[in-house]
Amino acid sequence: MDKDSYLTTPELIEELKLSRSTIYRMVREGMPYIQFGRDKHFNLEEVKAWVETRQRGVGALSPGTVMNNDTLAMTFKCSTQGGMRRSNTTHTLVVISDHSNLKNVYEDKWMNDILYYTGMGLTGDQVLEGNQNKTLYESNENGIKVYLFEVYSPGEYTFIGQVALAEEPFQTDEEDQDGNLRKAWKFPLKIVGASYPIPEETLVETYNRKEKQAKKLDSNELKKRAKLTSKSTKHLKKRAEEANKDKQRNVRTITSTAYDRNPYISEYVKRLANGVCQLCEKEAPFKDATGEPFLETHHVKWLSNGGEDTIENCAALCPNCHRKMHYLILSEDVEKLKAVAQKNSEI
Ligand SMILES: [Zn+2]
Ligand SMILES: [Zn+2]
Repeated sequence: MDKDSYLTTPELIEELKLSRSTIYRMVREGMPYIQFGRDKHFNLEEVKAWVETRQRGVGALSPGTVMNNDTLAMTFKCSTQGGMRRSNTTHTLVVISDHSNLKNVYEDKWMNDILYYTGMGLTGDQVLEGNQNKTLYESNENGIKVYLFEVYSPGEYTFIGQVALAEEPFQTDEEDQDGNLRKAWKFPLKIVGASYPIPEETLVETYNRKEKQAKKLDSNELKKRAKLTSKSTKHLKKRAEEANKDKQRNVRTITSTAYDRNPYISEYVKRLANGVCQLCEKEAPFKDATGEPFLETHHVKWLSNGGEDTIENCAALCPNCHRKMHYLILSEDVEKLKAVAQKNSEI
């Protein structure tokens, strides 16, 4: 047997980016090795084949499968806690994107079929060391398979598909849970293989729930959230455009753009309009069930045409004018709303 084609334990640790104790555990669980004297040596191909066999169990999972937390942990042999869960047994990283938490200002966002996934760490600067941010950061090299789940109702984990890093992860300035400015890591993830698009009804339902909550916020908090999401959307959009430049990507729709918009921005713009249509400048024609004047938020440059979901691209309109903006698209109307939106953003 040729000793040179085998790796020593430290070399294997380096190669698989695993800890020594994990390697020992994998050996106990049957990972193939060969003994030269007192040392164990590993053939990388054999090791990889062994890991692959163990991964095959989770590999059979179909996108769209919904499971609860316990089943998820059992399937992947991972922890029941955390947004990112690594399993050394199945050699996978489960990444959970939670859209059900109404307190979360910075939601993970799909843009041009890339999910900008926020790293771990609720307060202070997010770091790569000592947590699963590093595992995800290295996931294109460490052989770990990454499985994306999305949560729209608490306790319901929907398997979306297997993902990989689409671009280099990057840091951005965001406010943490306590409102302090901090560095957060964003991981651009793309689907590899089959995927499951979340049904429109689910997105609508989630949006409505968030809209209801946005209506309850006081003006300061609403403004703060609208400004924060506006800023973060602009930043991500720029990244997404750069990432797609010079690339011929088949754009596959993972999420519907119709409801991929932020309720804080919509509600904020409506509150700025104060019951008066920003195009015809007349009072809203009727009041909604809660007694608020009925206006709709319109994106001056449509989302479906690549418009941004930001304050400076939004105006509040009466249903008639909204219809007109989608039906006639007169350039003088567009210009007027552009100016209105710009003014909205300067407040
Ligand atoms: Zn109007
Ligand atoms: Zn519209």
